[in-house]
Amino acid sequence: MGMPGVGKGTQATVLRELLGVPHVSTGDILREAVRAGTALGRRVKSILDSGQLVSDDLMRELIAERLGQDDAREGFILDGFPRTQEQVKVLDGVLEQLHISMDAAYVLTAPEDEIVRRLGGRRVCPKCSEVYHLETKSPASAGVCDACGSALVQRADDTEAVIRDRLRVYAEQTMPVAETYRERGLLREIDATGPPDEVAGRLKKAVGKP
Ligand code: AMP
Repeated sequence: MGMPGVGKGTQATVLRELLGVPHVSTGDILREAVRAGTALGRRVKSILDSGQLVSDDLMRELIAERLGQDDAREGFILDGFPRTQEQVKVLDGVLEQLHISMDAAYVLTAPEDEIVRRLGGRRVCPKCSEVYHLETKSPASAGVCDACGSALVQRADDTEAVIRDRLRVYAEQTMPVAETYRERGLLREIDATGPPDEVAGRLKKAVGKP
């Protein structure tokens, strides 16, 4: 968990390598549906572009389907879900059905100014979802993905006005979710300021695999 742009996707990739379980990013799944022009993609495109949240009912279907796939049997890293109190209930139900319990909820924290700066410079690969930054992680060849050679783009929701809206949505809807996991004794807070490698070091330590 953490504000948009705090580094959830980057750090989830680190955890995926460390733990050998899939990284399930609901944002990536939704963006891929938009890119592919599926029925789901057509339904959610304008919501994603505006920085609002997709409905809990739709997310219920999407997450139950994804977590029911074979590669998730040994566990998974959730990135961007749950984001509302209703989604906490959805996840509780899905985990119960799968007979899995949650190990921990990690929340990455950084000051809002740093978040806005990071999001403004973020560029992503629309094909393989690799994330770059104009100042801190530029690709070898400007505007081109190192991993797959596709042209990099700025996410439609990474403009300043939409960023502010997304931060508001996070404060209103998702911060209470962190509190729920704190009450359950599952919340671990990770300082996400500084370079990605340093943040990864803190996270690995918290996971118990430094
Ligand atoms: P992210 O890549 O996690 O920042 O997600 C991008 C966008 O996808 C969000 O601004 C929402 O519009 C949508 N989205 C992703 N995850 C969820 C979720 N758990 N619930 C509702 N909407 C979501």
